[in-house]
Amino acid sequence: MEELFSVHYAEVGLKGKNRIFFEKRLVSNIKVALRGTGYAEIERLHDRILVRLGKNADVPEIKKRLQQVMGIAYFELACTTERDMTAIKETALQQIQGRTYESLKVETRRTDKTFPLTSPQISAEVGGHLIEKTGARADMHNPDLICWIKITQKNAYISTEKIPGIGGLPVGVSGKVLVMLSGGIDSPVAAWQMIKRGAKAVFIHFYSYPYTDKASLEKVIELAEILAVSNYRSLVYLVPFAELQQTIVTQTPAPFRVLLYRRMMTRIAERVATLINAEALVTGESLAQVASQTLTNLRTIEAIADIPILRPLIGEDKAEIIEKAQRISTFDVSTRPHQDCCSLFVPKHPATRASLAELADAESNLDIDALVETALNNLEKQVVG
Ligand code: ATP
Ligand code: MG
Repeated sequence: MEELFSVHYAEVGLKGKNRIFFEKRLVSNIKVALRGTGYAEIERLHDRILVRLGKNADVPEIKKRLQQVMGIAYFELACTTERDMTAIKETALQQIQGRTYESLKVETRRTDKTFPLTSPQISAEVGGHLIEKTGARADMHNPDLICWIKITQKNAYISTEKIPGIGGLPVGVSGKVLVMLSGGIDSPVAAWQMIKRGAKAVFIHFYSYPYTDKASLEKVIELAEILAVSNYRSLVYLVPFAELQQTIVTQTPAPFRVLLYRRMMTRIAERVATLINAEALVTGESLAQVASQTLTNLRTIEAIADIPILRPLIGEDKAEIIEKAQRISTFDVSTRPHQDCCSLFVPKHPATRASLAELADAESNLDIDALVETALNNLEKQVVG
């Protein structure tokens, strides 16, 4: 008898080569996620992944970590035993001991049809045994406990708990994105949503030290660390932005400053994305949440970039975003006070509708290429996770 985790993924749309690529990535991500938990081996079968447990495996910790791995639909802690009815009955009984229930049901599946009993026969026989030994009643419709039995060519698997996974796709199968991470509430949630869809996130943050303190830098590193639970080892690019902001302040009209900052950030981020082969930029923008996020203004940011700018939160209310931030544990860090570089030297009433021509005109005094080059030369890189 051996205890192991059987991990299942959503199979919809997974065919041929894609599927193998997906499964291999999921296996390597699970290996990283379970480091230090004492698991023995991870095996890829044709329809699921087995996590074999070593002698000293920390089962509750493994369970907790599997719940955070993107791409897992559900998993179960199962016991294997021989393909023998006596062994199956005994193992099933052991598995349900220590659980509280008044009614139960046994469900059987056979992937090997040569087993002498049919699935309903196995369910009935094991169910009868469990009821006799425990005094529980059978309930086919709404049981307190289900015992799943699976008969394969080699073994019988018995489990009594299906634990929901997080869903999504294994990180890395959808390529790489560069997330503009600000230290606020929204951008970490945007990052998480992309990571959940299988994108590996790299982060970029612009900071105005010495005009602001270093709080935003510390926050961004902490946020990247929290996100590394699902994104794993992550890179954070830090861009000093103060001097560039000074240039904008002295050479451009005040009402457009936020948009001009955002356009410069986007230009710099696009260059970094090219350097690291990221295929899109990601922001935490949500439609009309603030003046710089009206459709008209988003368009003026979009206009200067060739790379797609993805905004996973565009249609979400602030309350929904906050709820997600709490769920992914970034909220408390995000709400610690800091001053964002975009809030420096900005007028009380920023433009909510700047035209492309107005912005081009406002930028006409800037040597944009030189400013971008300087920023790239001063780029710093930090690894987290
Ligand atoms: P957040 O909560 O993510 O800070 P926000 O509601 O404060 O978003 P803005 O300040 O307008 O909105 O920023 C919009 C988006 O621009 C952010 O979600 C983020 O993706 C990006 N951004 C803003 N400031 C920075 C920064 N200092 N460094 C990197 N990206 C930034
Ligand atoms: Mg912000």
